[in-house]
Amino acid sequence: MKFTVIEYSITLNSPLHIASGLEAPGYADRIVLRDKGNMPYIPGSSLKGALRAAVTRLGRTLSVPECGGAECSNPKCLLCRLFGSVKSPGLLRFGDARIATGTAEEPFDPAWFSVRNGVQICRQRRIAREGLLYNLEYADVPSDQVFTGHISGWVGDDNLLDMDLPPTVWALLCGLRLVDKLGGNRSRGAGSVRIEATKILLNGEAVGTGALGSIGLSPDLIEGYAYALQEEVAA
Ligand SMILES: [Zn+2]
Repeated sequence: MKFTVIEYSITLNSPLHIASGLEAPGYADRIVLRDKGNMPYIPGSSLKGALRAAVTRLGRTLSVPECGGAECSNPKCLLCRLFGSVKSPGLLRFGDARIATGTAEEPFDPAWFSVRNGVQICRQRRIAREGLLYNLEYADVPSDQVFTGHISGWVGDDNLLDMDLPPTVWALLCGLRLVDKLGGNRSRGAGSVRIEATKILLNGEAVGTGALGSIGLSPDLIEGYAYALQEEVAA
C-alpha cells in the first residue's frame, strides 16, 4: 500500500449549483453551499459521487469486472475498495475544494453569485407546472479562479507490470479527466467543469508531471493499465 495524495484544480465553465438546502426569501428560493467566509465551495462528497460514476464508466470500457452495487460480493472490487460499500467506508478521503483567494485581506467578490429564474417542468407532461417559477442561486466564479482540493488514502499498488503509476491511481486520474459536470441543474447546462490533477504524491514522493501528461493518451498505456486492473480485481 502507498499513501496516495492527488491534488487537483476545478475550473468552472458554467455556473455551478450545489444546493445548501437553504432558502433566502426575497432573494432566491434555493441558495448554494458556502463556507463561513461566504465563499462558494465544492464539498468532497460531490466530487466523490461524480468520480465514482466516472470510474464505473471507465471500468466498463476497460472490461474490468463490474461492481455489484449494494450486493457486491467481490472483495477486490475496485469501486467498493476505493469509494466504499455498505460493508466498508472505502480507502479514499475527499477534502472539500475551495477557492484560494478570499482571505480576510482579500474578501470574496459578491459578483461570484448570481440568481436565475427557473421554471419547474413536469417531466411526464413536458409542461411548466403552474405557479412554479423559482429563483435559483449559482456560484458564478470566473475561470481565472480555481477551486483546489485533494483526494488521499492508502491505495493498493499491485503494480504487476511496473507501470509509471499504480493502476488504481491511474484509474482515478482518468476518472478525474472524465468528470465534466458537478452539482444540480446539469441537464440545463449548469455545473460544467474541467478538472486537472496538479500533483500526485506516492508515499510523499511527487510523481513527475511527464506521467501526468501521458495519462490515458497512448493506446499501449491504456491496454497495459486495463490488463493490470483486470488482474487486480479478479476475484
Ligand atoms: Zn463493488
